Amino acid sequence: MRKKRVLVTGGAGFLGSFLCERLLALGNEVLCADNFFTGTRDNVASMLGDHRFELLRHDVTFPLYVEVDEIYNLACPASPIHYQHDPVQTTKTSVHGAINMLGLAKRTGARILQASTSEIYGDPEIHPQREDYWGRVNPIGPRSCYDEGKRCAETLFFDYWRQHRLPIKVARIFNTYGPRMQPDDGRVVSNFILQALRNQPITIYGDGQQTRSFCFVDDMIEGLIRLMDTSDDVTGPINLGNPVEFTMLELAQAVIDATGSSSQLDYRPLPQDDPRQRRPDIGLARQALDWQPAVPLKEGLGQTIAYFRALMDGGRIPA
Ligand code: NAD
Ligand code: UDP
Ligand code: UDP
Repeated sequence: MRKKRVLVTGGAGFLGSFLCERLLALGNEVLCADNFFTGTRDNVASMLGDHRFELLRHDVTFPLYVEVDEIYNLACPASPIHYQHDPVQTTKTSVHGAINMLGLAKRTGARILQASTSEIYGDPEIHPQREDYWGRVNPIGPRSCYDEGKRCAETLFFDYWRQHRLPIKVARIFNTYGPRMQPDDGRVVSNFILQALRNQPITIYGDGQQTRSFCFVDDMIEGLIRLMDTSDDVTGPINLGNPVEFTMLELAQAVIDATGSSSQLDYRPLPQDDPRQRRPDIGLARQALDWQPAVPLKEGLGQTIAYFRALMDGGRIPA
């Protein structure tokens, strides 16, 4: 099989860097385009010596003219702290970024995959969420730049598919964690791990009974690659995530156990629009991709803790 030229936007980020590594390992050429807003050169350091890997500083809100066979569109800050830093830029990244990458796919005939999100479902009234649920999203709140930007990107993907018959793939990614999560992004997994490693209080927002389901990064990458490899009639949207659901209190306990920390719990106010529950229905992914997560929370937490511990030991983040 001819090796493919694959563009990964947001390729220097958490998910993108693992995706680039995996695509290289499968024999492809990889062009990573990133504006380094939340991504870093460190994340892609292991690939810089590989002649099949190219790193391009590029903002997807501007056009990009390159020749590729596949596009994974991951560019977009994913954590509330980062996407709320410059909300207008967040919407532009999702919307203009999608238009530019779809235009590129149209010109080159490339397959294109969109990294969409479970936030499409907002604060859902049904549980678990299936792909045919339309969601309950606040259009004017602080999370809207991300949620509505991603919803509009989905609209654009399906209109390019209807209007131009582009081979599109839309993945709705649920909470994913692992090494290379940003230590300062305020996400629950990184917060809890850092607090536990420092023996500081673990910050529980609200009563800690809200739930999330956490997918380990390796499982997510496998799902994304399987989705890209489906036939053209498979467009999605398709949920990718781990259906095993935990309360934030259970997560805190798992992190305390895995680190041997002496941290206590510290209850704080719940942020605005914080969803109560979130768990994917992955029936479609099981059937269409023969995919389901394989890494249990304990094992994934172990690898993630080891990563953060190494950052601390190396003086890259304060101990
Ligand atoms: P991340 O912040 O680590 O990665 C995003 C990357 O996009 C970064 O490298 C950043 O520098 C880059 N970027 C941001 N704006 C850009 C722009 N305008 N032009 C070019 N590059 C830009 O986040 P992640 O967790 O790796 O998320 C990757 C994708 O997956 C995002 O689209 C995110 O919305 C989606 N997603 C992630 C999760 C999760 O739990 N991690 C869940 C749902 C969806
Ligand atoms: N575009 C791009 N690279 C390409 C082709 C297009 O970045 O190789 C961008 C370009 O900025 C354009 C957008 O994608 O505005 C949408 O392209 P499309 O062909 O769908 O629309 P049009 O050019 O007619 O606006
Ligand atoms: N959360 C928490 N303590 C923290 C960070 C987050 O209790 O230090 C909660 C947060 O309120 C939410 C859940 O953990 O209910 C997941 O938050 P995160 O920002 O990681 O993901 P998202 O809300 O986008 O799913």
